[in-house]
Amino acid sequence: MKKPLPVPTPDTRPFWNGLNEGRVLLRHCRDCDCVFHYPRTVCPDCLSSDLGWRQASGTGTLYTYTVSRRPTHPLFADEVPQYLAVVELDEGPRLTSTLVNVPEANITIGMALEPVFERHDKERITLLRFQPANPELRGAQAATQSAPATSLLTEDSLASIGKTGEAIRGYPVSVEEIRRFCFATDDLNPRWLDPAASPDGITAPPAFLSIPFDTDVPLAELADDGVPLAQQGLVFPPLKARRKLFGGYQVEYFQPIRPGDVLTRQRRILDVHERQGASGSSVFVLIEATYTNQRGEKVAVEVNTIVNR
Ligand SMILES: [Zn+2]
Repeated sequence: MKKPLPVPTPDTRPFWNGLNEGRVLLRHCRDCDCVFHYPRTVCPDCLSSDLGWRQASGTGTLYTYTVSRRPTHPLFADEVPQYLAVVELDEGPRLTSTLVNVPEANITIGMALEPVFERHDKERITLLRFQPANPELRGAQAATQSAPATSLLTEDSLASIGKTGEAIRGYPVSVEEIRRFCFATDDLNPRWLDPAASPDGITAPPAFLSIPFDTDVPLAELADDGVPLAQQGLVFPPLKARRKLFGGYQVEYFQPIRPGDVLTRQRRILDVHERQGASGSSVFVLIEATYTNQRGEKVAVEVNTIVNR
């Protein structure tokens, strides 16, 4: 999969066209002379719709920022740490962007910034990012980007695709456990709590699925990143990565979970693939878990994405 890119709308098209030409265009109000961003059809100051476009310098200062150490989406895992920034342009408007070509230690509120036009020629879209205006603050980051990439895969990593772990049986689902889960997650839907709410009685909320498989893990059996060193029924591909990040999950349900059910979970490595990015390599491991009940009926199939760095 590829990272999503902005889709210009009729209102924003001139802004994106400007970026393609290496220019930052801002909306300008001919009535009150203000400039503003994001592009709208009405001036936010005087409500006039007599608007034009004005070329901005593109330079500005860092108004605020946050360092995102976890990917906001698996497709962006190669960009962590990501420096999400609000940039105040010299003309006044602020816009949200990311800082590039800057070591974290050099980022300071108020620092002077200049635009970096990141072109995606095939899609005809240019993203507006920012870097320090002072070249001395840019560090060696640009140089490391072109350094030869180091792979986190081992010889056996890809061989684990398709491998299935042993089937693990969870502890029986009980009314009390469902109640505890609902109160802990603040999900007080009567379907989960009140036997009279549905003719079929209580069912467990969908997110309950993996609860019967949770067991206490002693601290000594946790890796540095907090993930248990050994996981029942999971064959994890051998990697040279040091950290695992949760990269999201999808579940397809086939039937509800009820008190008295005893679920069995079987996991399988669905895919292992590596992506090289500006901050190094990330290995995406997709793990499929199939849940069945005591009658052998399929209850749900879940796919977890684990990002390894
Ligand atoms: Zn105006």
